[in-house]
Amino acid sequence: MTGYTEKIREAAKRLLTEKKVDCFIGFRKGSVPMVNYPVIVSDPAKADELIWDANCAMNLANYVIGRKDKVGILATGCVARNLVTLVQENQIKREQLYIIGLPCSGMIDKSQVIDKYGDVEIVSVIDKGDTFAVEAGDKTDVLKKADFLSRNCKICAHHNPIEYDEIIGDKVADPETYIKPEDVKKSESMSDAERWEFFEKTFSPCIRCYACRNACPMCYCPTCFVDESRPQWVGKSSDETDTLTFHFLRALHLAGRCTDCGACERACPIDIPVRYLTSRLNADAKEIYGFESGLDPKMRPLLDHYKLDDLNDFFK
Ligand code: SF4
Ligand code: SF4
Ligand code: SF4
Repeated sequence: MTGYTEKIREAAKRLLTEKKVDCFIGFRKGSVPMVNYPVIVSDPAKADELIWDANCAMNLANYVIGRKDKVGILATGCVARNLVTLVQENQIKREQLYIIGLPCSGMIDKSQVIDKYGDVEIVSVIDKGDTFAVEAGDKTDVLKKADFLSRNCKICAHHNPIEYDEIIGDKVADPETYIKPEDVKKSESMSDAERWEFFEKTFSPCIRCYACRNACPMCYCPTCFVDESRPQWVGKSSDETDTLTFHFLRALHLAGRCTDCGACERACPIDIPVRYLTSRLNADAKEIYGFESGLDPKMRPLLDHYKLDDLNDFFK
């Protein structure tokens, strides 16, 4: 992954110069360590701003929604699945996208790195492939990336993009079998009361900033149900009932659509494990229907297709 930057710049420059795309969506270096910023480049001369490393963790699919022009975009395994889902849901046309696929070995979990250094200021974090160098205070450590991967990347089943127009780099090995998230396993062994207590404890500190919703490419409703005032579906305070209602309803709206990209969890300023509920729904979709979102451009999304021989006879 560390060698992708030059190839990405060359591809963006070529596509913009040959007018195969009107703009190119990628990342540029952020002003703080471990947070690279999404950027939309339309001038080939600015393609040299583009970079790639294990701190390019926000989901670029978020930036194609509703565009009318032709867009070049970088896509890891999860981002490609989000793009496929957005095409299926008519948020962008496939022919408007020129997808540069990037096999991906995972993103650094900045919260874990910050926790390790406590009050010591982290000056820079440089991706070196299997390791990364952290300059913190007056010393530099080289840490193993595998020990600091984001929670979703640790269990990622689809590292390679399934949909692309060209691909950069060699494919990465995917796990041979499905890995059920630990949180999901834990919740399955809880009683209803224990599970409720866990939900309350996990989600009630939420400050309703909606960064998780805004970071999610599948949360694209022009007016989210939490912002509606006529009717007002949910209160706007940080009252626990309102907060839990937001999280439950948002998770249900993601059923059969979430790709476990982790953007919601990374965006949370107080490290709430936001994927907890969507991971459970993803596990149900996989176990009950054998379905994972965005893997097959020809297949309709889980909740809008059916079979006449469905076990429930109301389909007939
Ligand atoms: S979930 Fe993580 S490892 Fe998998 S493709 Fe996305 S960013 Fe890469
Ligand atoms: S809910 Fe979170 S993990 Fe799922 S697609 Fe949205 S941002 Fe990604
Ligand atoms: S980003 Fe975190 S604090 Fe903000 S609404 Fe989402 S869960 Fe709550």
